Amino acid sequence: MKRLSVLGHPVAHSRSPAMQTAALAALGLGDEWSYEAIDVAPDGFERLVRDLPARGFVGANVTVPHKSAALAVADTLSETAREIGAANTLTLDGGEVTADNTDAAGLLASLPASPAGSRALVLGAGGAARAVVWALLREGAAVEVWNRTPLRSQNLCGELGGVPVEAPDAATYDLIVNSTAVGLGAEDPFEALPLRADGFASGQIVVDMVYGGEPTALLRAAEAAGARTVDGIEVLVQQGALSLQAWTGREAPLDAMRAALG
Ligand code: NAP
Repeated sequence: MKRLSVLGHPVAHSRSPAMQTAALAALGLGDEWSYEAIDVAPDGFERLVRDLPARGFVGANVTVPHKSAALAVADTLSETAREIGAANTLTLDGGEVTADNTDAAGLLASLPASPAGSRALVLGAGGAARAVVWALLREGAAVEVWNRTPLRSQNLCGELGGVPVEAPDAATYDLIVNSTAVGLGAEDPFEALPLRADGFASGQIVVDMVYGGEPTALLRAAEAAGARTVDGIEVLVQQGALSLQAWTGREAPLDAMRAALG
């Protein structure tokens, strides 16, 4: 059996095991490969990763709070993971650990059109925002970054590029990506973020990285204005698909993955 995992703390809420298990079954690999969640606290992360190959693991996704630690534990880093400063995918080849970041390419794959030449507003300055800013700049977008704590967006732009903004007019952007955690809990996005429910424009692309069961209030308002919307589930599917392809060498069955999360 080749074992795969998602490593997080907490991790019980992760949708990756359902999605990746369905993907393995759809590829006819269900008898040879498995995917499970492992909850590991920060102080046990490195030791666990080093022990995984002996337990039959060949790869792992990494989620909060381990995305930076995943870089530190790796023997080899992809250019993407090194530049973003975070990894969400580990490949374990015997004792050799390789770290990659598929959040960036996953975000790009989820967009309905190339962001090249567009003006983009990224909300947030955490791990997800770093991957989004890096990906959009790399594709040739002009990127502005707003964050609740302005020092963090200033630092992010200082490291990766992009321009920090404090009072953006959302209707003027071609692309808006919410990569804050707002929308997960009870927060009102129109109070916590520099957005108005009637402040979207038709023709915009609006992405909400947050995922739950239902479209978020942010996406409902954007859709009502005629914007093209992308939900966090689609971004999750695309980043997971790229991880699965890296481990198995097989094209990921996107529809089976979406269905498992539906
Ligand atoms: P993180 O590193 O903890 O960053 C959290 C971000 O959210 C920070 O910018 C923080 O601002 C902001 N924030 C939190 N509460 C806020 C509030 N009440 N008002 C305004 N801003 C607030 O987390 P992350 O890893 O970047 O993840 C961010 C979100 O993206 C999470 O919901 C996560 O589930 C989602 N995500 C989705 C995918 C996907 O595949 N769909 C992938 C990765 C992440 P401060 O700096 O001011 O604290």
